[in-house]
Amino acid sequence: MRIGILGDIHGSVEALEAVVAALRDDGVDLFVQVGDIVGYGPQPSRCIEIVRELGSVVCLGNHDAAVLNLLDTSYFNQFARAAIEWTKSQLREEDLAYLRGLPLVVRQPPFTVVHGTLHMPEQFGYVISPVEALESLQHQDTPLCFVGHSHVPAMYLANKGSLRDLRVVMNSEAEISYRGYDRVLINVGSVGQPRDEDPRAAYGFVDTDEQIASIRRVEYDIAAVQRRILAAGLPEVLANRLSLGV
Ligand code: ZN
Repeated sequence: MRIGILGDIHGSVEALEAVVAALRDDGVDLFVQVGDIVGYGPQPSRCIEIVRELGSVVCLGNHDAAVLNLLDTSYFNQFARAAIEWTKSQLREEDLAYLRGLPLVVRQPPFTVVHGTLHMPEQFGYVISPVEALESLQHQDTPLCFVGHSHVPAMYLANKGSLRDLRVVMNSEAEISYRGYDRVLINVGSVGQPRDEDPRAAYGFVDTDEQIASIRRVEYDIAAVQRRILAAGLPEVLANRLSLGV
């Protein structure tokens, strides 16, 4: 099975369409989305529609939870919070109903999907180093687990008998064989707002027959998204950061 993994789309149709086109070229059988379809970006409703049309396996992200009023947004920065309020005004009732139906964790062997971490999914903690990866891996009972949230891609490979012997791959693009490992945790980075100083859209691709996992990148029309952000009256900083990948 070839799995295409989308993370943190954040209302960016241009980035999402570029990634979906690239994954179709890769010949995927299944799309997975690791949460945060909305927030920050200018086309939240259309992004939900596309993710639904793809028949994706999807979990709930913290921005998705915030627009449903399921999360206290006081720890969000002012720009993220402004975007949440704007996003609420843009979503249709059927978009909200769809988001309301998303679980925090989807376990569908051979993989599990969660936005933050498996040890405390409702806290939306970040997997940003081997420390959190190890904690999450202790709760992972499928060979593969896909996460997002940090917008910085990374892959962690281990075996359940010796989790501490962790192999870490932290590149903006990488392809690895996971043969010989029975626990693989992949932070797929962000489609719509990468923060690893590579402004290209990030996504994950796994071939379970070949036992290959990869983080891939694709260019998209950043300027078009920036124009939409400004036209929507969203904070300018949300447009500017896209060209820098921060
Ligand atoms: Zn996010």
